Amino acid sequence: MRTLFLSHPRYREHLAPENHPEQPGRIAAIERRLEGESFQHLIRDTARPVTDAEILRVHPVSYVDHIRIQAPHDGLMSISNDTILSNGTYEAARLAAGAACLAVDEVMGGIVDNAFSAARPPGHHASARQAMGFCFFNHAAIAARHAQAVHGAERVAIVDFDVHHGNGTQNIFYSDETVFYASIHQAQLFPGTGEASETGIANNILNVPLAAGANGTAVMAALTEAILPAATAFRPDLLVLSAGFDAHYRDPLGDLNLVETDYAILTRALMEVADGVCGGRIVSLLEGGYDLDALGLSAAAHVSALMGH
Ligand SMILES: [Zn+2]
Repeated sequence: MRTLFLSHPRYREHLAPENHPEQPGRIAAIERRLEGESFQHLIRDTARPVTDAEILRVHPVSYVDHIRIQAPHDGLMSISNDTILSNGTYEAARLAAGAACLAVDEVMGGIVDNAFSAARPPGHHASARQAMGFCFFNHAAIAARHAQAVHGAERVAIVDFDVHHGNGTQNIFYSDETVFYASIHQAQLFPGTGEASETGIANNILNVPLAAGANGTAVMAALTEAILPAATAFRPDLLVLSAGFDAHYRDPLGDLNLVETDYAILTRALMEVADGVCGGRIVSLLEGGYDLDALGLSAAAHVSALMGH
């Protein structure tokens, strides 16, 4: 399998206060786990900034300008609760969004089979006009729109296995039957949305909230009984993953009980869907994951599965 891995050194210049979970060292924690021999065939490249045309498909120019202007010259500034801007934030966020588009270009163009973007800040809590939950621009939404606008994709499915509900992605596509959004997450956790009754305008939204304490078996049951059949029936041209690794039992922000090998199992199940409906095309985008060891191991298990191991 030809698997693309995208990252960028500038991600670490998006600063956070000490003890903030979404910290600069997260990407290095993943990269360290991808140094071994079993990853020698991983195709590595650096992100490029998102273009205005690409980002404006999802976010209005007034909002993009707001994020750019708000970023402080020195120090840190809170834009909403724990969502913090530093001098390097705007550029990092534009690289993270650009990486999503680059991954779409490479996968839709048949250059690679699938791709994983290890980027920060994350994206799935960002709505068109609202930064929250450590997120500024919604990379999964930008990727889906890019696939539709540039590569002729008619339908895109987004599957989100972060421990938190991707309220931003759901908001953006709630009334858009060309995009299917499915999320497995811990019930009643931040941001409080993601109930099973939230189904979108055309049953294009599917939420499977799990009780605190649920393990990998419960996640796989939710996938195989609900999400995978619905994603298959949707017949997407591309599968985008909001790949958060904060459902790991060691994660400080969630109370689900996955272990790193669960991420390999769920990745293979998602690959099977993609093989059946869209030529295996998967663009996977990092969201959460806040215990550095668990994040590195889980992301490595995910990438290893994407590579066909
Ligand atoms: Zn999360």
